[in-house]
Amino acid sequence: MVAVENLVKDYGDLRAVDGVSFQVKKGDILGFLGPNGAGKSTTMKMITGFLSPTSGTASVDGFDVRKNPLEAKSRVGYLPESSPAYPEMTVVEFLSYVAETRGFRSKDEVHNRLSDVIVKCHLQSVQSQSIETLSKGYRQRVGVAQAILHDPPVLILDEPTDGLDPNQKHEVRKLIKAMSEDKAIVLSTHILEEVEAICNRIIVIDQGKVRVDEMPEEFKARKPGSSIDEIFREITSSKAYA
Ligand code: ADP
Repeated sequence: MVAVENLVKDYGDLRAVDGVSFQVKKGDILGFLGPNGAGKSTTMKMITGFLSPTSGTASVDGFDVRKNPLEAKSRVGYLPESSPAYPEMTVVEFLSYVAETRGFRSKDEVHNRLSDVIVKCHLQSVQSQSIETLSKGYRQRVGVAQAILHDPPVLILDEPTDGLDPNQKHEVRKLIKAMSEDKAIVLSTHILEEVEAICNRIIVIDQGKVRVDEMPEEFKARKPGSSIDEIFREITSSKAYA
């Protein structure tokens, strides 16, 4: 579903992503981990076609993001780091706008898509409210709703539970897990508990390179009882680290 091969991104003299390769298949929830500035968001933006790679390839459902950008983009749902939404629009107005930009034309189609995501993301009680009046938790759910509106086979979620309270985190994780059966999902997170709760595989990147590709249990067993940052330190200080 997602194939990333030798992906590189330079910002001027800085190589933010340095030869990253991995694949994600249907049913996978890949936890994309790493310290701040590791290159996670930049990699995700290249998969979604938001940023163009300096070299290397990324493809979505067989479509190269550079050669077939429209086909690739139509198969991805993307929740950026700080979920952007037009603050003055109501939830329904914003999601209708997203539906139109995603190519849904008939009123019935738009209505059906909106009803589906409003229920899935538990937005019924705030659907007529303007986005600027929503709590962070609800705003994040609007972000998830816009990402899944066209029912894409691939979801790229940049810190989907960031800033949410424990209940909201639980709800969003439940939603992600429920959707994973027929999708390939990549999510970045700083939360070890989240990795354990929903990911079936993890990749750690640091300084733009993949350092670890393993199961969550193996990752946790590297330093039992430690925080995610302590495990990163353990990995980066090991001899195998080049
Ligand atoms: P992460 O998501 O893992 O925190 P990022 O992908 O955001 O990391 O950033 C990787 C590196 O690229 C960092 O050193 C960051 O400062 C740099 N970077 C990110 N975006 C830009 C940009 N638009 N211009 C220049 N440097 C950037």
